[in-house]
Order: sequence, then structure tokens, then C-alpha cells
Amino acid sequence: MAKKGFKVVKFGGTSMGSKEAIERVISIVSKPQKPARPNGRSGGDARIVAVVVSAMSGVTDQLIKIASVASHKDPSYKKLLTRLERRHLETLNKLVNAKNRAHSQEVIHRTFRYLNEAVTGVALMRDLSPQTFDYVVSYGERLSAHLLTEVLNDRGIACEYLNARKVITTDDHFGAAFVDFKTTNVNIKKYFRAHRKLQIVTGYIGATRDKKTTTLGRGGSDYSAAIFGAALGAKAIEIWTDVSGVYTADPRLVKGAKVVPELAFEEAGELAYFGAKVLHPKTILPAMREKIPVRVLNTFRPSDKGTTIVAGFAERRSRSHTVEALTFKRPVIVIHLHSPEFFDSNGLMAGIFEVFDRYRTSIDIVATSVAGVSLTIDDDKHLLEIVRGLKKYGDVSVEWRKAIVCAVGGSVNAAGVAGKMFTVLGKRGIPVELISQAASGVSITFVVRERDAEKALKVLHREYIR
Ligand code: ADP
Ligand code: ASP
Ligand code: MG
Repeated sequence: MAKKGFKVVKFGGTSMGSKEAIERVISIVSKPQKPARPNGRSGGDARIVAVVVSAMSGVTDQLIKIASVASHKDPSYKKLLTRLERRHLETLNKLVNAKNRAHSQEVIHRTFRYLNEAVTGVALMRDLSPQTFDYVVSYGERLSAHLLTEVLNDRGIACEYLNARKVITTDDHFGAAFVDFKTTNVNIKKYFRAHRKLQIVTGYIGATRDKKTTTLGRGGSDYSAAIFGAALGAKAIEIWTDVSGVYTADPRLVKGAKVVPELAFEEAGELAYFGAKVLHPKTILPAMREKIPVRVLNTFRPSDKGTTIVAGFAERRSRSHTVEALTFKRPVIVIHLHSPEFFDSNGLMAGIFEVFDRYRTSIDIVATSVAGVSLTIDDDKHLLEIVRGLKKYGDVSVEWRKAIVCAVGGSVNAAGVAGKMFTVLGKRGIPVELISQAASGVSITFVVRERDAEKALKVLHREYIR
């Protein structure tokens, strides 16, 4: 289906983090956009219908701190709140004309009054339930979206504030809620049919059917942008951040890392899932379902080409390098289950997975052998219950402080690649276990000791990406 000529853009915390950064955002939102790439898939020229924003940098962490301090009845939360309000007001004052300032300031004041009430409640009750926690942290995005709405309107760019709670419907898994796409997609379409102005949308948050505020997991604003883009059938989803695209490895860790100009959804999905913070792990799925290209671009260097993530891994494969990019995720926990039954038992695997499912703990790698299975998880919240549940099937042992390294690329599964990779690591004294190759040939993942993860990344980067 031909995509309509509009797009959804998202600006992260650093891009919203200061007066100077917001000036950049304004110029990207207001200027005619970059020309589309020759294949016409980038959507660069499309009109923006929604701008999804993260909280200003550091604000979510501050709100978490405020909530926690208040729950211990430590009165210093008041000072922290005042400081947060001052930061938003000072930024607003620098950006909004004097004649509109009083009105805009009142929007921020009002939002802080609600936030204050909630935090005071936490202090009075000395209770911070996951539900209240999500409600408090949701204010980071409410504030930044209000701020940008005020600033854009002041600059003559007509727009409206949209609290995503109105349209993104989730379950009540507070902290990392699951989206009900059926309802959400209908809500978003309906809302945008009735509201034709540019929408400035709170990233990261949603609400349950009975309107309890939820969050989508840390870094979840990328996911919000993909949810809106997919529901609206946008021509492109643009993730504007503080680096010039998806790099061959985290540029903060690996000096020689380079931007990867193009990635397949499958490759980007694996990278995000296994730790590349530049994209929230769930971002790719809605875009992939609708085949909407996702572009990762730099707010501070808007003319850099960035990375375009597109459909068609199979087709891209022949053009791709053996290894396109590397990442790691840490810490992870390895659980080994030993059972002589394994050899000739049918329903065992289903039973084992059911235990993890019951505690909503996702498994990253599974390796089976004749007498057992080993699995990795990164969330240890329900580890005790899981181990208890697994004991029904055999002897359980647990190893902590591990990491998963993941390499993606067009031919990581070609003959000899894995062998060479592990030889190189072995020579550097890095033992490797639990190796897993995606059936699609998009990635190799394996487990190393947590303390070896960074070294493994650097060694492989030097070997495969120059
Ligand atoms: P935002 O606030 O814009 O969402 P994030 O901090 O969440 O930004 O993500 C951007 C950061 O992700 C970069 O500054 C970079 O350090 C980190 N990162 C990790 N892995 C990669 C990678 N492979 N490519 C690019 N950036 C990466
Ligand atoms: N503000 C949220 C966070 O810090 C969401 C995001 O930045 O995407 O996790
Ligand atoms: Mg992010």
C-alpha cells in the first residue's frame, strides 16, 4: 500500500534538554524537511503530523528520585520539585516571547500543582505503589510536551498538546505496560481525524482502560513514536537523538564505531533487543508490521544522513557486511536445568516456558542438550519463584554476572564465521558459552562473563569492522 505523505517524529531527552537543543527541535519541525532519498522510501519530504517527545534529559531519573525520597517521608523532595519546576520555567522563559509568557508559565505551574499533589500523597501515605510510581514519572513527558507546545505556538507554528494517555491503551503491567494495539490503533486514528493540527505528544506513557497512567518501559518514547506512526500509516518514523544514527557499536564505548547507513528491521530489532540504547527494543515491531521505514537522525547535526531501517533483510543480505554491528546486554543471569527426563519427554519444554510466562519474565537465549536446558534472563524480580517452579522438572543452578554479546549482519551465519569469532575471543582469554544463531541468519548471540563484555565487543569490532 502506498504510504501517505506524512510522518511522525520523535525527539529524545538530550534533544529536549536545554534552550539550545529545543531551538534545534523548532528548526527541524518548522523547516521544510530534507529531500527524500532517491528510492523514495525515507519519507524525508513528508509533512509532520505528530511530534513525540521524551522528558528533558535527566528529568525521569529526577522524578524517580523525588518519588522515592517522598516515600521515605524525607522533606527534601520539596526542594527537588522546586528545582525541577525552575528548570522548566527557565527554559520556557528563554524561548517564549514576553507577551505570551504569562499564559505559558501558567501551563507549567498548573502541571506542577498536579505533580505536587501526587508527590505529597506519596509522602503522607509513605507508600509508593507501582501505579503511583508510573503516575509520578509520567510528568516528565507531560512537562516537556507542554513546554514544546507553548514554544511552537509562540513561534507561530500552530499545534496542540496530546497526552498519549488519551489514546494509548495498555494493560496494568506498571513500569513496562503492554499495549492493546487493537484499541490503541482505533483511538489514534479517530483522534487524528478529529484533530487536524500538528500534535505534540507525550512519549513513554499510556493508560489502562480505566484510565490509570502507565509507562512503557525506560526509553519507551521511541516505542510511542512507532505506535503512532504505525497506527496512522505514516510514510516514515524519525527518531531524532544525540548521535548520527545506529553505529557499528555504542560510540561511547568503541572509538572507531561508524554509522551504519542502512539496516533491516530484523537487524535493528536484534541490536535494540540486545542492548543498543539508541532504540527502545519494542520500537521496531509496529514499524515492521506496517513496513514503515524508521530513520535515526541527529538533532545536533540534522544534515547527517543517519540510519534508515527498512524491510527486506533477504534482499539486503547480499549487500551487507559479514558483521554490520555489535552490541551487548548486561547483566544477565543464566539458569541451568538438568534433568535425565529431558531425553524422552515431550511436554517438558512447554512446562518450563510456562514457568517464565507466569512471572512475565522473558527469556533471551535458550540452549538445549540431551540432559538439560540453559536459559538467560535479565530480570531477576521473580528469580526465586522461577527457580522454585523449575525444580519440578530437575536440578536447577543459577549463574550471575553474565552478559550477552550480539553480532548482526548479512552473513553472520555463513560457514566458519562463528568458529573464527570464538577463536579470536578465545585467544584473548574470553570464554564463550550458550551460543545461539537466529534461524533467519540475522545474528549470533552468546554469553560471556559480565566483566569480559566490553572487551569482547572491542575485540570483535576490531576484527570485523574497521
Ligand atoms: P534519546 O534520549 O534521544 O532517546 P538515548 O540516550 O536513549 O537517546 O540513546 C542514544 C544513545 O544510545 C547514544 O548517545 C549512544 O551512546 C547510545 N548507543 C548505544 N548503542 C548505540 C549504537 N549501536 N548506535 C548509536 N548509539 C548507541
Ligand atoms: N523519559 C523516559 C526515560 O527516561 C522515556 C524516554 O526517554 O524515552 O526513560
Ligand atoms: Mg532513548
